[in-house]
Amino acid sequence: MTVQDVCNSMESWAPLSWQESYDNAGLLCGSRSQPVKGVLISLDCTEAVVQEAIDKGCNLIVAHHPIVFKGLKSLTGKDYVERTMILAIKNDIAIYASHTNLDHAPKGVSYQLAQKLGLRGGRVLRPFKQALKHLTYFVPSDAAEATRVALHAAGAGNIGNYSECSFSQAGTGRFTPNDEANPTIGKRNQAEEVNEEQIQVIYPAHLENTILNALKAAHPYEEVAYYLQGLDNSWDEVGSGYIAELPEPMDASAFSSYLKDKLGLSHFRHTAWLGKSIKRIALCGGAGSFLLKDAIKAGADVFISGDFKYHEFFDAENHCTICDIGHYESEVMIKDAIHAYLSNNFSTFAVLKSMAHTNPVSYI
Ligand SMILES: [Zn+2]
Repeated sequence: MTVQDVCNSMESWAPLSWQESYDNAGLLCGSRSQPVKGVLISLDCTEAVVQEAIDKGCNLIVAHHPIVFKGLKSLTGKDYVERTMILAIKNDIAIYASHTNLDHAPKGVSYQLAQKLGLRGGRVLRPFKQALKHLTYFVPSDAAEATRVALHAAGAGNIGNYSECSFSQAGTGRFTPNDEANPTIGKRNQAEEVNEEQIQVIYPAHLENTILNALKAAHPYEEVAYYLQGLDNSWDEVGSGYIAELPEPMDASAFSSYLKDKLGLSHFRHTAWLGKSIKRIALCGGAGSFLLKDAIKAGADVFISGDFKYHEFFDAENHCTICDIGHYESEVMIKDAIHAYLSNNFSTFAVLKSMAHTNPVSYI
């Protein structure tokens, strides 16, 4: 198994095209063809984490936060980013980051926070738009089933809990092959009519190349007639934040204890409790203030996230209570999820969780 195999596995969970435009997720250093001896999983990739990988015989680090976020114009070891990269490169350690793409992925960071809190039910707080597309194509009736099977295997036709979804209608296809054509049906320079089906399927935009290759491989024609359309539909399983419910309503005091206990917190910052029982919880791992309005609109009693600035706390007004539990504390559980995922997918090398405590923030 190579570094690329692990990249492919991570990207089938969290495709790179789902990352924010400012982000830098993906393989940050190392050779894609290098065989993997062991994987070390961390929230942040620091010098201590690279040293731990060396000590434990791991040559690939899978981290949530990209250690390289902006362009590097030199690599001289003048700061912790450059020193981390130099240590990794000198020791043949590859570094891979799955960041905002993993925030947005199904069962991603905010979902894992909800699980850690024992919340029930739930949905993505701000689902993605324009991440789904629509394919319409035309195929001879006797080849229709083979193309549908190929497209479903490539990832088309999934809607919520339903798979192999498509719509088709029968009709007549017409064409005239020219002198250079090699028609499967008909002859050059003769008009042809064929019983065809028009088939429509929905598909994730990031799988477009795979889907089209599958269609062309399964379709009998030299030229496949198809068209692609973008959709404004929300993709309910993919997007930012999460909203779910506590097992039972709690008052502020009980909820504070519950939150601290479940996440092992010594402190958290919060806005005023609103004197009502707390049941519906919106959350976002990491810096989530951009989702406060979504949380309020969804009727959340509490919004749990990290990295709120002073003035952003005012925006809660009397609509909900912001609980800022800290960036690290709201995301660290993703290590367990990545560990479970990669352990399940690979058995030929060790998958370890980093023991290094990378949170740069301490409390007294
Ligand atoms: Zn983060």
